[in-house]
Amino acid sequence: MKKVTIIIPAYNEEESLPLLYDRLNNVVTNLNQYEFEMLFVNDGSKDKTLQIIKSLRAQDERVSYVDFSRNFGKEIAMIAGLDYAKGDCVIFIDADLQDPPELIPELIKYWEQGYDDVYARRKNRKGETFLKKFTSKMYYKVLQSVTRVEIQRDTGDFRLLDRRCVNALIQLRETQRCSKSMFSWIGYNKKEVLFDRDPRVAGETKWNYKKLVDLAIDGITSFTTSPLRISTYLTIPTFLTLVIYFIYVIIKCITQNVAIQAFQAIILLVLFFSGIQIMLFGIIGEYLGRIFNETKNRPLYFIKEYNGIREENKEK
Ligand code: UDP
Ligand code: MG
Repeated sequence: MKKVTIIIPAYNEEESLPLLYDRLNNVVTNLNQYEFEMLFVNDGSKDKTLQIIKSLRAQDERVSYVDFSRNFGKEIAMIAGLDYAKGDCVIFIDADLQDPPELIPELIKYWEQGYDDVYARRKNRKGETFLKKFTSKMYYKVLQSVTRVEIQRDTGDFRLLDRRCVNALIQLRETQRCSKSMFSWIGYNKKEVLFDRDPRVAGETKWNYKKLVDLAIDGITSFTTSPLRISTYLTIPTFLTLVIYFIYVIIKCITQNVAIQAFQAIILLVLFFSGIQIMLFGIIGEYLGRIFNETKNRPLYFIKEYNGIREENKEK
């Protein structure tokens, strides 16, 4: 029997968990051809989240959990979930029921058809402010413009991942994580499923704008070193301006038979030295970018198949 691990990162979710468990249980009971594991990652909750998980485990052996020493954030909770998952595939789901568990059978259906990464894309964003919708739209645009890897729009972390995606992801051990970009980066066969995202059932969102801005910056900087290239790109226009202005001043001095004026000399000097500075920053940026990419220690590629045999990407 194939095993499906449902990973639920939970931070202060005492009100949502019993509701979530009920709905998950309903869905899972109807899928009796699979063995299920509900893996909770308690991310340093300060409320009764852990007690609730423990009592669920006492009555249901499919429930297991990882308990963090403190709050590490959802991204780290997710990788811990992947590390401890025993399933042939995993499904990430939020504890607040914004991701409807009723979609799970459909995710599994596409997995059975051979897709490795079945992600749920939301049709609407009920219960979110205009500002949040707008900023997230702009963010996707920016993120997509700085990378060749295709970013999936309007997708959260609600998705099913085959074991080989899991084995790929757990090899990406960088500390500033942005799962969304990693899901894209590892590749494999992706399938989109549309759903309506509900407002959260209870409690408050754990995000605020500062956290979101942090996540956005982590996303861009963990993905690409192109911001470091800005200096390199600015070098050429700066020196070009210098040369053009220099020629202009020389011609003017010769044709009008006057000496070079102080302000012209100053402009030339400013252009010259800022050009040199920008160029040096660019050079440092290039090296920094290389160091950055190397320190991530990522494997260079993953394999789907070898001689027609599915590659599981286990660490050797
Ligand atoms: N979460 C977590 N650690 C955190 C913040 C959030 O594990 O530091 C969990 C949270 O319990 C929920 C999921 O991540 O299951 C999504 O959080 P939330 O609903 O607050 O985010 P939003 O839906 O507003 O993006
Ligand atoms: Mg939520």
